[in-house]
Amino acid sequence: MMRLFDTHSHIHDKDFDADRDAIIGRAEHDGLIGIITLGVTAENSERALALSRRHSLVWAAAGVHPHDAAEATDGDLDALEAIARDPRVVAVGEIGLDFYRNLSPRDRQTAVFRRQLDTSARVGKPVAVHARDAHDEMLPLLESWSRAMGGRLPDGRPLGVMHYFSADAALAAAYLKLGFMISVHTSVTHPKAAMLAEVVRETPLQYLVLETDSPYGAPQRFRGKRNEPAYVAEASTRVAELKGVPVETVADTTTNNALRLFGIPPSASPSTAKGASA
Ligand SMILES: [Zn+2]
Repeated sequence: MMRLFDTHSHIHDKDFDADRDAIIGRAEHDGLIGIITLGVTAENSERALALSRRHSLVWAAAGVHPHDAAEATDGDLDALEAIARDPRVVAVGEIGLDFYRNLSPRDRQTAVFRRQLDTSARVGKPVAVHARDAHDEMLPLLESWSRAMGGRLPDGRPLGVMHYFSADAALAAAYLKLGFMISVHTSVTHPKAAMLAEVVRETPLQYLVLETDSPYGAPQRFRGKRNEPAYVAEASTRVAELKGVPVETVADTTTNNALRLFGIPPSASPSTAKGASA
């Protein structure tokens, strides 16, 4: 049985209200030992945390998404930091810069992002970073943060993960150098994902994790449908093809990478705790 981990989803959101338990059950049945569900505002992060308390498979992340930066008050950012200290919260995210849709003013996005890098440093948990059409600003920002942090979290873990990575292999290498991991999204299965395929070929497996970003971006086999955590298996299959290694190696290595990055002991995952056999 493969061990898989979906490092980025939004399964606490309303798209899953009708069948959330079934979706989580299917994920566990298909070999997932963990799912992270990420908040996009303080209130939304509170809901992510609430879900993680109801399902041992689910972990939460707390953050203000760049789309929502304009609305976030200082009080929200303080509340978020308190949520981020909860043991079920394993990352500060989803945070970042989105200069493609520009749903919040760019200077506000930058200020809210920087404030949440400070949160990460204070709570000692990695960041989950969204960067779209914003690498010219993102890279220098993370360079100076990485320098200030000594390239690692205080406990030696990587600083975070570049979620739904969509830039080229040279930029991926630059983020690795700063202490980040690269998250490969299920869209790696799409026929036009040539740049992401190149990133996968060029980046050592020990720096890769997998994600669905559910409900967004279903893999090719389910294109046009709602994405769900179980489909992370599609990404592992494609990564195995691209790297020319067995799919079990991809599943196992990326899962171990996720457990290490997010500080989750293997014994905390339900299938291991049950002593589940194959
Ligand atoms: Zn997301």
